[in-house]
Amino acid sequence: MASNLPPGCSLGDIERAFGTEGPCDVCKKATGDCICPECPLCQEQGNLTCYDEHGLKFSREQRISQAEYRICELEEMLDSARYYLDWIQQEA
Ligand SMILES: [Zn+2]
Ligand SMILES: [Zn+2]
Repeated sequence: MASNLPPGCSLGDIERAFGTEGPCDVCKKATGDCICPECPLCQEQGNLTCYDEHGLKFSREQRISQAEYRICELEEMLDSARYYLDWIQQEA
């Protein structure tokens, strides 16, 4: 599929960078770059349950990374919606 995403912001790139492991559930960074602290209760890192149930709070860095990831996701959706529209228009 054609892509006209701005450089440096594409889920395709993210997927390539992450391989099959996928980003951290909490901070949305690659597993090796995860910035999540260890949970004092269960010693897990990057587990959303710890934020719901073990009293961990998102840091500023985590929230920034989550917001950046969300923007990438939305841009990807926007891009595919535009691509789809293009495709329909060219059908005529
Ligand atoms: Zn993390
Ligand atoms: Zn925990």
